Amino acid sequence: MTASVAAFSARRLGVMGGTFDPVHNGHLVAASEVAALFALDGVIFVPSGQPWQKADREVSAAEDRYLMTFLATAGNPQFTVSRTDVDRGGLTYTIDTLRDLRALYPDAELFFITGADALAQILTWRDVHELFLLAHFVGVTRPGYHLTFDASLPANSVSLLEVPALAISSSDIRDRVGRGAPIWYLTPDAVVRYIVKRGLYRPHRDGTDPVP
Ligand code: ATP
Ligand code: MG
Repeated sequence: MTASVAAFSARRLGVMGGTFDPVHNGHLVAASEVAALFALDGVIFVPSGQPWQKADREVSAAEDRYLMTFLATAGNPQFTVSRTDVDRGGLTYTIDTLRDLRALYPDAELFFITGADALAQILTWRDVHELFLLAHFVGVTRPGYHLTFDASLPANSVSLLEVPALAISSSDIRDRVGRGAPIWYLTPDAVVRYIVKRGLYRPHRDGTDPVP
């Protein structure tokens, strides 16, 4: 856990978990919107270790995903990044993330921010009932997913929210880099430059002509 996270004192804390491969403006807008609407004191971005839902595809190194998330959030005093999932290693389960953050912020109210697609799968997550004791869940819409309330979810533990529709996904960004299409303005400039510098998402990492 970084000193900056430990020093981040707050009563109402958003938690934005994700693979962030790479982080993009959809994540940032969703966090900013939820922070405003739920009067949060701050939002902690938590890049995953190895996400269990994505065990079948190669995910970029945790350190690259952590650094991109750090670069993307550094300028916003309300945002910070936690290394808790990256440092725990192994597969990442949201229950572990929330237990760690609860231990770090015993007095804070936690709001776990997640896309509607992920929320739809929430009942398949490990220790789902404890999840709802640890945090309030905020499901945000993203293009292509309809926001319907699953009657089996506890109504007072889940909020659904429409955020400005941003048709941005990490998969599309990776795909664009792979075929040489631009990614400017889909993710902060510092992240674009980091992707180029590290040669991420390129089919042949030979270091030649790294134009995103
Ligand atoms: P991938 O395309 O690889 O699945 P992703 O864009 O979904 O990546 P993740 O790191 O998997 O990014 O997402 C982290 C969280 O952010 C998830 O809860 C996801 O639903 C949510 N999210 C992703 N893109 C958006 C978006 N454009 N608007 C709102 N929420 C989003
Ligand atoms: Mg996703």
